[in-house]
Amino acid sequence: MWAREEVLFSQSSSHDIRLLSRESTPEWVESELDMGTLPQLVQIEVGPRLPQPKPEWLRAKAPVGENFHNLKRLARSLGLHTVCECWNHRTATFMLLGDICTRRCGFCAVPKGKPQPIDWDEPARVAQAIGTLGLKHAVVTSVNRDDDNLGGARIFAETIRQIRLEAPDCRIEVLIPDFQGWDEALRIVLEAKPDILNHNTETVPRLYRVARSGARYDRTLNLLENAKKFSPAMVTKTGLMVGLGETMAEMIEVFRDLGERQVDILSIGQYLRPSRDHLPIARYYAPHEFQYLKVEALRFGFRHVESGPLVRSSYHAHEQAEATARR
Ligand code: SF4
Repeated sequence: MWAREEVLFSQSSSHDIRLLSRESTPEWVESELDMGTLPQLVQIEVGPRLPQPKPEWLRAKAPVGENFHNLKRLARSLGLHTVCECWNHRTATFMLLGDICTRRCGFCAVPKGKPQPIDWDEPARVAQAIGTLGLKHAVVTSVNRDDDNLGGARIFAETIRQIRLEAPDCRIEVLIPDFQGWDEALRIVLEAKPDILNHNTETVPRLYRVARSGARYDRTLNLLENAKKFSPAMVTKTGLMVGLGETMAEMIEVFRDLGERQVDILSIGQYLRPSRDHLPIARYYAPHEFQYLKVEALRFGFRHVESGPLVRSSYHAHEQAEATARR
């Protein structure tokens, strides 16, 4: 649920997204809020709308081909949700715990609402799909289930165990939610021994309230730190988006925070707005800026940094894992 202070943000002419405090909230908005007539998410765009054509380097080709369609068909027949595939490297990402999230991140296209009951057969079906496809690297993620953090963690753990039985050679990366800071939930996942524990930082702390209202920057840092503390050999990974209005200096501060938590792998990619109902793009970063961010991040001790316009959390996941395994 969005707090009232969290629902208001503006886009200045420089496309910098910022919160409007109650003091700076226009009177007409105050009265509408008090009457309860405004929808929960109010996006106010101040100043002229600047045309933002998508740069050439972001025009990626959609995945096609027989293998891609086979994977989609198999996932559908097993009632599974896949979110990303890189068939050439036998990699795929599966989303657990349904396709409805209990949170409302301003950048995310996953539907929000009341989730379905936890499906305890889902781990076996995910493992069956991975075994059938002969995947070499599987990313297992989920929607957020703030209604049942421990249940969500148990589904992750059971999925890891089932994949080990069905596809013992498959590398398993889990991209987990923050479990609202419950250490017990994190321990449940770690005890199942994934190969990589990934939790996304997403953006700089100043933008958490507009971009990730249900999350807390400190909680994310604690999770990544605790993963190493509870399981020192675990490879940890996180991801950041750019283009939401952050500054380079803020990004570098985040690199420092993550480096201090001994995070092993970092991915940095361009935010792309899923629809007009989502946060606007503040700006597109050029490829040389991604290169600059990579060089800066590497100063803080990451073992591998993937930085580029089309980089996503599971982008080249197999290569990231191989690079860290070699060192
Ligand atoms: S918690 Fe994850 S799935 Fe849910 S809205 Fe945020 S980014 Fe999307």
